[in-house]
Amino acid sequence: MYAEFPIRPVRGRGSWLIDENGLEWLDAYGGHAVAATGHSHPDVVRAIAEQAGELLFYSTAVRHPLRIALAERLAAICPAPLERVFFCNSGAEANENALHLARKHTGRRTIVSVTGGWHGRTAATLAVTDGARYEESARRSGIPLSLKVPADDVAAMEAAVDASVAAVIVEPVQGLSGARDLAVEFLQAARRACDAHGAVLIFDEVQCGVGRCGAFSAAEAVGVTPDVLTFAKGLAAGLPIGAVVATPGVTAGLTLGDLGSTFGGGPVPCAAALANLDVIEREGLIDNAVKIGAWLTAGALAHGVRRVSGRGLLLGLHLDRPAAEVQRALFDRRIITGTASDPAVLRLLPPLSFSAREADLLLAGLAEVLQ
Ligand code: PMP
Repeated sequence: MYAEFPIRPVRGRGSWLIDENGLEWLDAYGGHAVAATGHSHPDVVRAIAEQAGELLFYSTAVRHPLRIALAERLAAICPAPLERVFFCNSGAEANENALHLARKHTGRRTIVSVTGGWHGRTAATLAVTDGARYEESARRSGIPLSLKVPADDVAAMEAAVDASVAAVIVEPVQGLSGARDLAVEFLQAARRACDAHGAVLIFDEVQCGVGRCGAFSAAEAVGVTPDVLTFAKGLAAGLPIGAVVATPGVTAGLTLGDLGSTFGGGPVPCAAALANLDVIEREGLIDNAVKIGAWLTAGALAHGVRRVSGRGLLLGLHLDRPAAEVQRALFDRRIITGTASDPAVLRLLPPLSFSAREADLLLAGLAEVLQ
């Protein structure tokens, strides 16, 4: 069951959706951070069509040049030594495999995660996700729950990690909890604690990665390098894909069959991802996300938003009223935004190509609603 937005889109272009009545909607939600290069970018669409016509699919039983090219591309743009890549089909699956990798590497079971963290709906990822109902689901599956460290509590992080801990998993900028940019000192403390005790540091960049937060990886933006990094959502701009990018040290003990996926790294999603990464680079979308993010932040504060959290184009507008009310009033103006688990936070995750004009339209809508 899903809480649905009051629009039935039939077409998309850039930051805009067209509904079944031909009306245009401004999408500041980006299909949940997926439409990194906007909806149906012509280069991405062409790459998908061409690859589908060449070879729709073959499994990982064969080497495909696009899978290799995408793995090499990710290895080149992630901070060293993150260079080993495994492809799967979603964010949860990427995190599931990252946890599996950490447990296999360390021979330990305990995971440390962070309050407000959200990592997926598989049994293992639910067990590390914060929230009573997720923990309840994990408990029903018999999976041990993670130790939850309060966000930004350096001393608690230092105390939680010891020689029994396989991994610390953290979103450098938390998405669902309201675009919460964790303190760099806290992420550094997680790095130090993992180093001191031989635990694996996992950054879940499913929502905050792929150019959204100031660099291709949030890891680069915050200057802390994890041992494992996961991407999904925006990586192929709409085709299902997940990627686990790890250091050779963490993957050294893997043997044949430890990780696997039938569909993971198929030729069509890889073609889409490569085209998507080309567009991000060629159109300077990482810089655009920083610039437009700063513009939206300043504008929102000028219109009475109390505080803006997040980085780049993953922003949390902290309001003096329920965000759901503001979201509804913006829907009435055909503007799509997101809410968060914090009921006072309106979440913005537009395409990285969001323009200054589109930002101004959003801010004008917001000004009307908040006046
Ligand atoms: N991690 C984070 C930070 C997410 O935001 C999400 C999706 N909201 C996931 C993991 C799970 O991704 P998926 O829905 O593709 O399984």
